[in-house]
Amino acid sequence: DEFAASFGWQARKAISEQAGVTSCDGIGIVIPGMVDRASGIVINAPALGWKNVNLLERLQKEFEGTEIHLENSGKACALSQVWSTHGAGSGHNDFVFVSVSDGLGVGVFINGELVRGRHNTAGEFGHVPLSIDGPICSCGANGCWEAYVSNIATLSRYFGKNTALKQPQPIEVSNFTIEDLISRARGGDGKALAALNLTARYLGLGLASVINAVDPSTVYIGGEITEAWDMIEPQVREAIEERTLTKELGTTPIRIVPATEHPRLLGAVALVTAPAYAAPKVA
Ligand SMILES: [Zn+2]
Repeated sequence: DEFAASFGWQARKAISEQAGVTSCDGIGIVIPGMVDRASGIVINAPALGWKNVNLLERLQKEFEGTEIHLENSGKACALSQVWSTHGAGSGHNDFVFVSVSDGLGVGVFINGELVRGRHNTAGEFGHVPLSIDGPICSCGANGCWEAYVSNIATLSRYFGKNTALKQPQPIEVSNFTIEDLISRARGGDGKALAALNLTARYLGLGLASVINAVDPSTVYIGGEITEAWDMIEPQVREAIEERTLTKELGTTPIRIVPATEHPRLLGAVALVTAPAYAAPKVA
């Protein structure tokens, strides 16, 4: 309720600031978690601590008569990739978008369609275990891919403790971002570089599984970690080559989508302006 009210206030403020310039055609919201699009229920968003929250109903009270679309972040990023290129190019029939942030979102396109599954929760590669006794994940399990490669995982590795724990953290820990870590690595901080390099290796190992499972023509990677791509690319590629099952799979093209392209935001826009991409194809 608090989120809906605060979001409502901010959205109305943004709309009124743009009054006369543009109008509001609808609202697209991207959630770091599983979303049932039909009912508008956020089924499970570990990063937010939300389970079975009927977000749509709450927002509809705030915005009567406005169309509201909710989508999972990995899927929205995948949609943004199709939308921003208007579906052009041969690379858009089978591809995967991996969004590395506080969590890990994955959107999978196969045969030109976003894979949703029966409950719109397909593509949760972030919770496939890399190890059954690895670090604790936001979902409550151990050793998920996300628990090895999210920004929180990288920062935790740097500080040598789990920074996701809901205990008060010293200010130098709680105010320290992944961008800070990347610039320290660039400045020659060996510990920061080591933390990034391990993330790169785990990212590559997980990507190898995704590539083995989907055989995509391209893998897109978004999120803050892409700022460090020049430093981590060799480790990512090495891990992919090590664990993909054929030589061809090992050479799957990887494309970086920098934060300046705002894939999540574009995905939210695509939900409103390009429902043709967002909706399943009807035969
Ligand atoms: Zn998990």
